[in-house]
Amino acid sequence: MLHICATPGLGWLLPQIQARLAHVYGRRVSCMLDAQPKGISPSALDAYSGAADVNTLLSALSSGRQTVRLWVVDHHLSHGMHANLGGVTGDGVALVSAKWAGHEGAVSIAAHEVGHLLGLAHCRGVCLMHPVKTPAAALRRTTRLCKSCVQQLSP
Ligand SMILES: [Zn+2]
Ligand SMILES: [Zn+2]
Repeated sequence: MLHICATPGLGWLLPQIQARLAHVYGRRVSCMLDAQPKGISPSALDAYSGAADVNTLLSALSSGRQTVRLWVVDHHLSHGMHANLGGVTGDGVALVSAKWAGHEGAVSIAAHEVGHLLGLAHCRGVCLMHPVKTPAAALRRTTRLCKSCVQQLSP
């Protein structure tokens, strides 16, 4: 069961992400819409002057009793030397930046990060697992997995 949640103001995006996940993964992924993770206030995010450190968020996501696994945030994400990431996947948890990707792009990024959560690596094919460097590329990317990636997923 994949729990997905969003920062305040982005909750309306979650049903779209849920529909996209069903489109890509079918019955392999069943997801549940969740409230924002407990223990993280919006002000905690803002403490990063608009850019949230990925490690802080990922560890907050994986701690506590809640099993939230994908979190859509309205902030830029930074990770060490890397700033303005569209999405990132850690140990069983993933973040998506709607600030970077825009609302429609965030749906694509979310579907891509869930691929990582399911164990898929990046793919050079015409494929959802093809990495993107710009929000425009996220919008152009196919919404589907290539055959090879589908085969790597357990049925
Ligand atoms: Zn990726
Ligand atoms: Zn692929």
